[in-house]
Amino acid sequence: MRIDVVSIFPDYLSPLELSLVGKARTSGLVDVRVHDLRDWATDRHRTVDDTPFGGGAGMVMRPDVWGTALDDVLADGGHLLVPTPSGTPLTQRTAEALAHEPHLVIACGRYEGIDARVAAHYATRPDVTVTEYSIGDYVLNGGEVAALVLVEAVVRLLPGFVGNPESLVEESHGAAGLLEYPVYTKPPVWADLEVPEVLLSGHHGRIARWRRDEALARTASLRSDLVAALDVADLDARDLEVLAEHGWTVLDGELSLRGT
Ligand code: SAM
Repeated sequence: MRIDVVSIFPDYLSPLELSLVGKARTSGLVDVRVHDLRDWATDRHRTVDDTPFGGGAGMVMRPDVWGTALDDVLADGGHLLVPTPSGTPLTQRTAEALAHEPHLVIACGRYEGIDARVAAHYATRPDVTVTEYSIGDYVLNGGEVAALVLVEAVVRLLPGFVGNPESLVEESHGAAGLLEYPVYTKPPVWADLEVPEVLLSGHHGRIARWRRDEALARTASLRSDLVAALDVADLDARDLEVLAEHGWTVLDGELSLRGT
């Protein structure tokens, strides 16, 4: 996979050289190229922004500078990802889909964002897909952190990235649609807190059931939206019992929270 990130602060993307993403780059699993948008500016001051038409506070990033930059990095087409707080929320499903694509380009905005014509223009190109995405309902100063989030979420799903692919299966937001169960390691007692006895039993069946119960209970306590999205056909009798303890019952084939 190739990923191009365009930013006016390329140094902000230096964490991409660290840890597992850095290793994936050196091993050739992913080719990440970080570009300075100002390299495409044409004036002496390497200007990339201007005042907003219609007035108002702040500056807007110029479409002509972004256009020449993106024409270069998207010369062979690809998926243009534009971080913005008004975009579609980034989810694990999005990351899974992007992990199958050969070329991602991330355009990091700053100031009041990028002139709206940039996304509109590239959306008309048959060899380019455009997605405006948000990493949460808050406003950052720039798209670089959102680019780091997307790269890490996608690259860890590439085949060969994690040593043990099993570790991805039961994760939060995985195929089961649940949050992950709590995890523990040595020592067995710390700060007077004991690891649940079942995890020391060596009994694989009991451990698997306990983990499933905990995942269901945790999801029911913290994320009713995820429970509401579960498919009843995927749940066994014990699952329904655990959910019932948290107020969920099956009504007309759908999970429903008592009193709502
Ligand atoms: N004026 C914009 C608005 O109100 O929607 C906010 C611009 S923000 C200060 C500057 C840049 O930060 C955006 O162009 C985007 O690249 C990035 N950004 C800020 N918050 C973000 C979020 N929640 N998700 C993704 N990108 C974000």
